[in-house]
Amino acid sequence: MTELFGKGVSNGYAIGKICFMGASSPKIKKKTIRDTKSEIVRLEMAVNSSLDSLDSLYREAVSKVGQTEAEIFNIHKMMLEDDDYQTFIKSIITTELVCAEYAVSVAKEKFADMFSSMEDTYMQERAKDVRDVSDRLIRKLMGKEDNPSLLSGIIAAEDLAPSQTITLDKSKVSAFITQKGSSNSHTAILARGMNIPAVCALGDSLSDDFDGKTAIVDGFSGKITIDPPKELILKIQQEIKNEKESSAIFRKLIGKPTVTTDGTKINLFSNIGGLSDIESVINNDSEGIGLFRSEFIFLGRNSLPTEDEQFEIYRSVAEKMKGKKVIIRTLDIGADKNAPYLPQSIEENPAMGLRAIRFCLFNQDIFKSQLRAILRASIYGNISIMFPMIISKSEIISTKKILFSAMSELSNDGIPYNNDIETGIMIETPAAALLSDILADEVDFFSIGTNDLTQYTLAVDRQNSAVSDLIGENQSAVLKLISMTAFNGRKAGIWVGVCGEMASDLSLTEFFIKSGINELSVSPHNTLRLRKKIREI
Ligand code: PEP
Ligand code: MG
Repeated sequence: MTELFGKGVSNGYAIGKICFMGASSPKIKKKTIRDTKSEIVRLEMAVNSSLDSLDSLYREAVSKVGQTEAEIFNIHKMMLEDDDYQTFIKSIITTELVCAEYAVSVAKEKFADMFSSMEDTYMQERAKDVRDVSDRLIRKLMGKEDNPSLLSGIIAAEDLAPSQTITLDKSKVSAFITQKGSSNSHTAILARGMNIPAVCALGDSLSDDFDGKTAIVDGFSGKITIDPPKELILKIQQEIKNEKESSAIFRKLIGKPTVTTDGTKINLFSNIGGLSDIESVINNDSEGIGLFRSEFIFLGRNSLPTEDEQFEIYRSVAEKMKGKKVIIRTLDIGADKNAPYLPQSIEENPAMGLRAIRFCLFNQDIFKSQLRAILRASIYGNISIMFPMIISKSEIISTKKILFSAMSELSNDGIPYNNDIETGIMIETPAAALLSDILADEVDFFSIGTNDLTQYTLAVDRQNSAVSDLIGENQSAVLKLISMTAFNGRKAGIWVGVCGEMASDLSLTEFFIKSGINELSVSPHNTLRLRKKIREI
C-alpha cells in the first residue's frame, strides 16, 4: 500500500483503477524474446485493434468536426497498413529477438527521420503522424486505452486542460487526480460539476508507474491510497453508501421554494458547460441556468463551430429549460482554455492576455457569429447574454455595438430574435467591481465570477497549487468587492448574482444574502444543499 497526499478539490470517495491520461510517448523496455512467431501474432493483433480504433475515431470526428478534419485518421490508417513499415517492425523482432513494443519504437524513429529529411514540407509534417501512429500501436501492445472517450476509472494526469476533459466520456470517469492544479482550476470545477471526487497538487508523487493499479481517492482529505488493503476497501464502500443515503435527505427539497425565513426569494441557478449537463440541472430542480460556459462548445474539436451548430445547441438548451432563465456567457477563451484552430498566440501571461471579451473584440467575426446564434435561439426560451472579463464602460459599449450590428443583420434578413434580450456582465476583475456604479447603467445585471475575481484581486494564479493556500485566509478583500458590487447594483436597480465557486460555499451564503445578492449559481449537484441552507437563514 502507498499513500499520496494532495489537495481535495471535489468531495467524495472513489475506488477504481488508475488510468494515466495523455502520457505523450509510452516508456518502452527492451525485452528479449524467444518465440518470434507469437510476438508477430501479438503485433498483428495490436495493428488490427489500432485500425479499429482509428476507424471509430474517424467516425466520431466526422460527426463532431466534419469530414476534412477527420481525414487525419485515414492517413494514420494508411501509415499503419504500409507494407514497408510493418515488414521493418517484423524484421527487427526476428533478427534482434526483441519485443514488439521495442521494434515499433525503432520503426517510429526510422520512419520519422525519413519523413523529416524530405524536401517537401507536407511530407516533413508526416514525421509527427508516424510518431503518433507508432505510439498508438505501442499503447495497444501494452494494453493501454488510447481513445480519450474510452478512458475509464480514476483519470490521472499531470494536469488536465479543459480541451482534454471535454473529450472524456463522463459516465465512465469515477475521479480525477492530478500532479498540478488548484481548487479554482477548471478540472476541479468540472469534477464538482460532475459530482465526482478530485484531488490535485499531488506533485511528482503521482507517477505513471501507478497506471493500472487499484486506488482509493478521498476527495475530502486529498489522500490517495494505492493498492489499498481489503478492510479499507470495505470501509470506503460503506462510506460511499452512507453518502448516497445522506444525499436522499436533500432530495426532499425538490419543489420547495428557495426563500429565507423572512421570505426573501433567492434565484437558485446552475452552471453548465453544455447540453449534457441539462439532465442534472432538471433532476436537481434548479430554477435556471446562471452560467452557460459557451466556450466548452469550442473545445475538444479541430474547427470553429458554425453559427448553425451553435444555434442548435443554444436553442435546445433554451427549449429544455422550458421558459426558465438561461444565461449564455459569450466565448471565454484564452488562459487555460485554448482551441488549436483559433487565432491564439503564445502569451507570457495568458490569464492577463487576450482572453474572453478581449479575444472577441479582437476577432469580431467569431464573436458576431456567436451573437447571431444566441439571438436566433432567443425566441425559443428565456435567454440572456453575459459578457466575461469586462474592465471598463468603453468595453461594454464596443461589445454592444457588435450585438446591435448582429441584431440589425438579422432584422434585415427577416430572421426573428428577441430584441429586448437581457444583457449583463461578469464582475470578475477588480476594475469591474470598483467601477460597478458606472457599469450598472449599461447593463441589466451583474454576475460575480469569484474564481477570476479572487485570482486578479489577490494576484493568486488559479492554476498554481503552490499559492492556492493564500486564498482562504485572504478572502476579505474579495468579499469587500462583492459587497460593493451588490450595493451598486441594488442602487441602480439591477439584479446581482454570484456564479463563481464561492456561491456554493455554505459558510458564505448568509454573507451573500445580507449583501443583497439576488441569485446564486452553482453546479447542479450542489443546488439542493444550497436550497436547504438558504431556507434556514
Ligand atoms: C469565474 O471566474 O468565477 C467564473 C465563473 O468563470 P470561469 O470559472 O469560467 O472563469
Ligand atoms: Mg472567469
